[in-house]
Amino acid sequence: MGEIIHRSKTRPVRVGNLTIGGKNEVIIQSMTTTKTHDVEATVAQIKRLEEAGCQIVRVACPDERAANAIPEIKKRINIPLVADIHFDYKLALKAIEGGADKIRINPGNIGRREKVEAVVKAAKERGIPIRIGVNAGSLEKRILEKYGYPTADGMVESALYHIRILEELDFHDIIVSLKASDVRLAIEAYEKAARTFDYPLHVGITESGTLFAGTIKSAVGIGAILSKGIGNTIRVSLSADPVEEVKVAREILKSFGLASNAATLISCPTCGRIEIDLISIANEIEEYISKIKAPIKVAVLGCAVNGPGEAREADIGIAGARGEGLLFRHGKIVRKVPEEKMVEELKKEVDKLAEEYFAK
Ligand code: SF4
Repeated sequence: MGEIIHRSKTRPVRVGNLTIGGKNEVIIQSMTTTKTHDVEATVAQIKRLEEAGCQIVRVACPDERAANAIPEIKKRINIPLVADIHFDYKLALKAIEGGADKIRINPGNIGRREKVEAVVKAAKERGIPIRIGVNAGSLEKRILEKYGYPTADGMVESALYHIRILEELDFHDIIVSLKASDVRLAIEAYEKAARTFDYPLHVGITESGTLFAGTIKSAVGIGAILSKGIGNTIRVSLSADPVEEVKVAREILKSFGLASNAATLISCPTCGRIEIDLISIANEIEEYISKIKAPIKVAVLGCAVNGPGEAREADIGIAGARGEGLLFRHGKIVRKVPEEKMVEELKKEVDKLAEEYFAK
């Protein structure tokens, strides 16, 4: 299977200590669900997100209390912070002044020219980018009237309208999202956008639903877009704890070999040949490797019939046998371990591989 070709002709845009676009890896984002003015709760949630692998976090900034909390939140977290603002340029200025690493605001919604200029000037001075967030559900009235309903053309037209406002002010550190909850519409919009401009794309399927259904919808939508080499940062939107969004985002990237900092589990579906309690072992190993920051592939198989051979791409794995486990590497069995020691031994091997990876 060939590696996914990633679009490298997008403009690189710096966000804090990271760069979105250019030749950089796809970055995982999420958004807090706490009241932003509740600094304690917001920081605690961001810490959990960081631990799960979130690389950029966005907070809603709906009022002054929220904007005033930005400096304190910023001080206590380690990943870039994005302030999400609708319409109010004063909140945007306050968030920028407070140390936000990026703001999400649509310049066409800010109002009078001087207000837009003030926001752009502040962003330029601080060297922070602006994300334009087009949403199929809130397209400009004139665009909706022109197309009759939300279309990919209409969404790209809306993005261009906001982009032009920034470009006229000689501002180019732009990131664009074109979200829709209709997967087919989102795919078409991102494809068109990728053909139309070279600003990096923030990809997501909005309002995708609850943990189970939303995970599938996001994987299908974001996956289809990534498979075309489109997308520089992703956010999975779920009606769930945002930590789940990060976990799903990581799995999506792993499926395409786009995450260099995450281990992957391969486990068999089990069948009548099963020799071990595979499901609980697989879950335990999955939990364990979720903290491993190296691209190691670990396999857990119910038996040794075809397993090791089928899981040839795994760096390390275990296959059940009667009363014992067979430890294998790249499809070849290397040694036997007693059944009760299987999980422990596999964990040790995973740690060893991770150490070797980081020592390289
Ligand atoms: Fe069945 Fe063994 Fe294949 Fe698992 S590895 S599905 S137990 S044959």
